Amino acid sequence: MKKLLLIILPILIGLATATSDFAADQSAIATVLSAPPAADIGTKTKCGVCGMNVRVKASTPGAVYQGKDYYFCDANERDAFVQSPSMYVKK
Ligand SMILES: [Zn+2]
Repeated sequence: MKKLLLIILPILIGLATATSDFAADQSAIATVLSAPPAADIGTKTKCGVCGMNVRVKASTPGAVYQGKDYYFCDANERDAFVQSPSMYVKK
């Protein structure tokens, strides 16, 4: 019985570690915002990549990262942000 526990325990620990890694990865993922929510349209914000002032329009490229909406000057910047959001967001 003890032997079995010795075999199972590392697996359980590995599983728990893998799960928490997955959760960390999930929070580090940014997703493309298909359309800015109505509440954001007309508001002023700063581009998530270059920091320029952006007034949000229906066509403004946006992304969601860690529950927050980010907007960008153009789709290229949005794509760069989505690929590695942690590079652009200050912790
Ligand atoms: Zn920009």
